[in-house]
Amino acid sequence: MTSENCTLWSNMADCARLSGCPFFQDTLSNMPSMSESYKRKYCRGDHTACARYLVLDALGSQHVSGDLFPNMEERARALIAANER
Ligand code: SF4
Repeated sequence: MTSENCTLWSNMADCARLSGCPFFQDTLSNMPSMSESYKRKYCRGDHTACARYLVLDALGSQHVSGDLFPNMEERARALIAANER
């Protein structure tokens, strides 16, 4: 593996929030049927596109609701915009 490949791989590393994330730990009361696919795409792929991660990073964990799933980026961005005013 070249150093360039290593850099690309490191950009797709596991999300740093895995161990404490209710979505990844399957502790949300209403897990979506696509949850395993989302985990591959976001939690073990590109966490910077995850709606939960975006809200957590911008506003803090108290703003991450139990029905906000990784694929809801549009909702996350609207929530962030509303709270940054
Ligand atoms: S990518 Fe999103 S859902 Fe997955 S562990 Fe990180 S914050 Fe949680």
